[in-house]
Amino acid sequence: MKKTAIFPGSFDPFTMGHHDIVLRSLNLFDEVIVSIGYNSTKKNRYFDVDLMVSKIKGVYAEEPRVQVVVYNELTSTLAKKYQAQFLIRGLRNTTDFEYENTISQMNRYLNPELETVFLITSPQYAAISSTVIREVHRYGGDVSEFLPFPI
Ligand code: ADP
Repeated sequence: MKKTAIFPGSFDPFTMGHHDIVLRSLNLFDEVIVSIGYNSTKKNRYFDVDLMVSKIKGVYAEEPRVQVVVYNELTSTLAKKYQAQFLIRGLRNTTDFEYENTISQMNRYLNPELETVFLITSPQYAAISSTVIREVHRYGGDVSEFLPFPI
């Protein structure tokens, strides 16, 4: 049976840390669906969601096993829609762990068939966060090294 994993996140922006998680996930699963959670009524993103979709698609243009989608529903519902058995999240530190632990317990309650799989960050990407990249970009700093595409 085909193993499908969703990798949900804000990806505002998608970073080298996220890219590393996708590449490693491709060794574990047949298909990885990068899923950008986006609520059009909230308008609280820094990078435009359509821009991010096209940038991420560009990164995986040669990799048919990666899909990029935008969703506005429960992650557990999204997983059912794509018949995904796995949900991927990355862990950098104990702060991530505390947050992820709570979410994964709730997701298991909502969809017991969906197994959350955590990948520990690669050390060279451990300090990369979308939040910091947004701040640096906002004030004109060069963030190109931390993103898998020019912005
Ligand atoms: P969210 O807003 O849902 O936390 P993010 O886009 O910030 O979404 O992150 C998506 C996932 O990627 C989360 O599981 C997060 O912990 C993980 N992640 C973020 N940055 C890194 C990194 N540098 N290395 C590994 N995992 C990361």
